[in-house]
Amino acid sequence: MPPPPLLALVDGNNFFCSCERVFDPKLRFLPLIVLSNNDGCVISRSQEVKDLGIPMGIPLFKIKDQIHQHQIQIRSTNFPLYNDMSQRLMQTLKRFAVKNEIYSIDESFLWIPSTIPPRPWALELRAKILHETGLPVSVGVAPTKVLAKLSNRLAKKRPSTAGVWIWENNRETESLLKITPCEEIWGIGGKLSLFLKTNGIQTISEFIATERGWVRQHLGVTGERIWMELHQVPTLGFEETPQLQKSILCSRSFGKEVSSLEELKEAISTHLVSAAEKLRSQKTVAGAIHLFLASNRFKEKKSSTPSTLSHRLLIPTDYTPALIEIGFKLLEKLYRPDQKYKKAGILLSDLQERNHQQLHWFEETVQEEKQQRLMETMDRINRHWGCEKITLGSSGLNKSWSGKSSQRSPNYTTSWSELPLVR
Ligand SMILES: [Mg+2]
Repeated sequence: MPPPPLLALVDGNNFFCSCERVFDPKLRFLPLIVLSNNDGCVISRSQEVKDLGIPMGIPLFKIKDQIHQHQIQIRSTNFPLYNDMSQRLMQTLKRFAVKNEIYSIDESFLWIPSTIPPRPWALELRAKILHETGLPVSVGVAPTKVLAKLSNRLAKKRPSTAGVWIWENNRETESLLKITPCEEIWGIGGKLSLFLKTNGIQTISEFIATERGWVRQHLGVTGERIWMELHQVPTLGFEETPQLQKSILCSRSFGKEVSSLEELKEAISTHLVSAAEKLRSQKTVAGAIHLFLASNRFKEKKSSTPSTLSHRLLIPTDYTPALIEIGFKLLEKLYRPDQKYKKAGILLSDLQERNHQQLHWFEETVQEEKQQRLMETMDRINRHWGCEKITLGSSGLNKSWSGKSSQRSPNYTTSWSELPLVR
């Protein structure tokens, strides 16, 4: 029997920063950060910024001094650009694999025949991507998904690897696992690693040495599958991840104070459109919607806490118009015309797998299939042409409530009027 195929995880380095650097070469040699919507927090850091110890997610105002001192360059988020660069990256990756699975905007798993020597393959792949897209990536190759993820992290953290780490059972790997904490394992989040720590399991090598029965008893079937994968037994197939997201949150501060119901409806609709898209991408349906509004806590002390309303669905759904209809009902109940709102958001919870839903009457099933086809078409078009190419009218066109992006770079690759110029 031929040996099982190998898996590679390819992941863009500091992806948003790297996209910015492709089109603005002067940024290549300067420390750079990209900010979240509304220019609030740091969501991508160049290596120079990481080396300064500036953490991910920190609000901009907290690092004003460092920005000045180290001349850190700032860019507002530019998703049309990142999305387009992601598609270019994925196009190149496709040519290198038997099968591939896009995992996030800058990550993809590739299945490669085990007859291919992995190191030369990975080095060539890296060079091709850099040549064709200008993006630096790291490659981790291993027999299972969890180990491929881990190998990728090892490749990123160790400059001596030239961005490629091939999983091998040797002394070097063993000693690395002895010093790598459990939270570096894909699927073991902060909470679980804290639980493991309280049980005396600090490092990956200690987790691997833990008895399988104990892992199953305390971490459930998902934990057991992760443990198996670390023992080089593949348990996660195509499009399988070790954990299912339990809730989806979409919220954003407004760029100005908002008091009109119409603008709030646009914001809620926009959030629900993207949350529902996320639901469908992970093949889940939501069992409950929670909506919250927050007013300006500095100006209106009395009503500083966000007000929230929830609704439980009789039949869980991922159908955008149905979610928006409920969202609007909640909003109308919660809305006060005399308030000035700073933020609105929605949370979808009680998520369950789409296939595990109960069956309904025949007519409902036919209706549902039509709705599903409509949503699939919308998602496909948006995936291909960039987000929000097709959306619901209720989300509004000019979004006057939306956040400010004072430092956004041009849409170099998706807008004719913003093409890069060569002088
Ligand atoms: Mg990345």
